[in-house]
Amino acid sequence: MQRPESKECCAMSARKQVWFLTGSQELYGEEILRQVADQSREVSDVLARSPHVVADVVAKPVMSSADAIRRAMLDANADDECVGVITWMHTFSPAKLWIKGLDQLRKPLLHFHTQANLKLPWSTIDMDFMNLNQAAHGDREYAFIATRLGKHRATVAGHVSTPQVQERIGAWTRAAVAADALKTLKVCRFGDNMRYVAVTEGDKVEAEINYGTEFNTWGVNDLAAVVDKVSDKAVDSLISEYLDLYDVAEELHPGKDRAESLRVAAAIELGLRSFVVDGGYGAFTTNFEDLGGLRQLPGLGVQRLMAEGIGFAGEGDWKTAVLGRALKVMADGLPGGTSFMEDYTYDLTAGSELSLGAHMLEVCPSIAKGTPRIEVHPLFVGDREDPVRMVFDAEPGDGVIMGMCDLGDRYRWVSNELRVIDPPEPMPKLPIARAVWQVKAEWSTATECWLAAGGPHHSVLSTALTTDHLKLLSEIVGTELAAITERTTDTFEFVERLRWTNAYHRLGLGS
Ligand code: MN
Repeated sequence: MQRPESKECCAMSARKQVWFLTGSQELYGEEILRQVADQSREVSDVLARSPHVVADVVAKPVMSSADAIRRAMLDANADDECVGVITWMHTFSPAKLWIKGLDQLRKPLLHFHTQANLKLPWSTIDMDFMNLNQAAHGDREYAFIATRLGKHRATVAGHVSTPQVQERIGAWTRAAVAADALKTLKVCRFGDNMRYVAVTEGDKVEAEINYGTEFNTWGVNDLAAVVDKVSDKAVDSLISEYLDLYDVAEELHPGKDRAESLRVAAAIELGLRSFVVDGGYGAFTTNFEDLGGLRQLPGLGVQRLMAEGIGFAGEGDWKTAVLGRALKVMADGLPGGTSFMEDYTYDLTAGSELSLGAHMLEVCPSIAKGTPRIEVHPLFVGDREDPVRMVFDAEPGDGVIMGMCDLGDRYRWVSNELRVIDPPEPMPKLPIARAVWQVKAEWSTATECWLAAGGPHHSVLSTALTTDHLKLLSEIVGTELAAITERTTDTFEFVERLRWTNAYHRLGLGS
């Protein structure tokens, strides 16, 4: 069997950079440009120290010529460490200087509209001060050319000392890091999609063109062969880890009736780690219909890999696995969790409708409340041994859920705002990990909008992220986002917007 050679780490990426470019022009002379450089450094230093900003902020020399700007943008494109560029026109920077550079830029762009001073020095202000601190003027000139060039960008206006400004720029750095992770993401598919299922299908070549993500399929017996080679010693050691970390059902303990089931699950986890993580894959899929020589549907091992930041979806659903990886990278370090999810069943009590979401086994313990319990039970489908899984309820918290569908001419993301809640009653007979949530909008409206948008049953649920994070990422990667929020009140208006968006894309007006 051929195995991938890469040994790069698939856990969260190393810290990347965003470049901070300040615009000016040579007309001002050296003394002013030195002041611009000093103040630019003060602003970028505040961002660099902000806990919200998850990339290193690299201050570049003040940009005062078209050549320097073009060169900086080409360098940004070429530098694998750079995931995005922040621009600010401290003084007036005639925007023809920016045409060639912006036109060349292929990295995410944030236009930070700010100024060095918070307050105006009313009693001492003179023309020198006015000319030095004229972002109100210079940033308008710059924004015009960015718009004229059709440059997709995030725009944040406000003083750098404002917490909300730091949070918004921080959220953009998270989105830029996630978009970068997609560019280097390799997805490993064990088998193909579940038979007859439509929404899990899609154009993988288009996804590689769009996102830079690579997809390759392996026979599940390639994985089974690795699982078969796992040593008893490695299994012993992993079982001790399970016993330390989780509430393991008594029957699975060493020497007990079903100890062998846990050993099989541990061997599958070790095989997956070797194949997926050591293989340099950041996401993978399985298919319960195609398990080859595997004795159990992978459950516990999949859950633990997801908790480490690996994207996953069942039934061959590579699109949701990709979303899982992207959202896990974007959420890294934030409170809350992010998991593969499936809308399963409802409580339709009028006015307090609830969703019960789960999957066959594979829900990520990053969303768990308390210590997960490891149990073994029969699976309701398939013809393998009973699979071991973690069982838990999800920790309450505000969050979002997002799915991805392929409309034939493009991808669409559909998202919904929700609040995960404690289940109204215990569910002692449901032996799987699950989440119970309320959507933020009125239930019928939110649900009708999701259905009208063609949103899938597979999704990624995150209590770490907000709709704003999803919007920033959708802008950067150029995928349509049909966002249902707590302010969504009218299904007709939502559907009408989908139609306008269809027209926009079909007219080829760009992503
Ligand atoms: Mn499913």
